[in-house]
Amino acid sequence: MLIIKILVLIASLLIGSFLNVVIHRMPRRESLLWPGSHCPQCGTRLTVRDLFPLVSYLVLGGRCRYCRNPISMRYPVVELITAVSFLLIYLEWGAGGQTLAGWIFTGFLITAAFIDIENGIIPDRLTYSGMLAGLVLSMVTIGPKSSLIGLLVYGSFMLATALISRGGMGGGDVKMAAAIGSFLGFPASLLALFLSSLLGGGWAAALLISRKATRKSAIKFGPFLSLGAWLVLVYGQQLIDFYLSLY
Ligand SMILES: [Zn+2]
Repeated sequence: MLIIKILVLIASLLIGSFLNVVIHRMPRRESLLWPGSHCPQCGTRLTVRDLFPLVSYLVLGGRCRYCRNPISMRYPVVELITAVSFLLIYLEWGAGGQTLAGWIFTGFLITAAFIDIENGIIPDRLTYSGMLAGLVLSMVTIGPKSSLIGLLVYGSFMLATALISRGGMGGGDVKMAAAIGSFLGFPASLLALFLSSLLGGGWAAALLISRKATRKSAIKFGPFLSLGAWLVLVYGQQLIDFYLSLY
């Protein structure tokens, strides 16, 4: 029904706007719920009509309504990604527990990716909450056994990579992989590992070729962990079918 899709879209824009608050505040150790959203430049509290940064951004040409200072592109981008990914999940699974669990996982992935892009870290508060949420939500999705194995397998694989690469990969990436494993379970987390390595490796190669990075530069792996995990979550079966059809 169209009306439900529109409601999903509005709800996911609001959730995207909340994720922006979390992305801004969590690395600064600020409270996530109090005070309400405010402009990072002039501090003016935002009102109901500012709740959809994507809309305000387009209307106001990327500036704060009050102080006219430019607003980071990240605000509309996060809202857009949230809206599109939530809608795709709804179209795939409809209304129910699986969709709700998928939305929570997606919110976690978006938050971790953008905190990593801006700060080069993924906070423990976020990754440990992710592991807990993954284990709890597995009761309605993949089952606790698969969730726990996924957490241990993906976590230890990344831990081994971090130890071998000696600083090329951080502890935040390891804990994030463990959290992803708890949501995707086993063996789906292996597919996520494969896909994320492929995407991250491709990106690193592109940076090296275009000389935007050297062999010693550390690349932020969080966004690739997120993207790979999300593709496996929603399109895992299609990806496997496609792969097998090649033979
Ligand atoms: Zn302002």
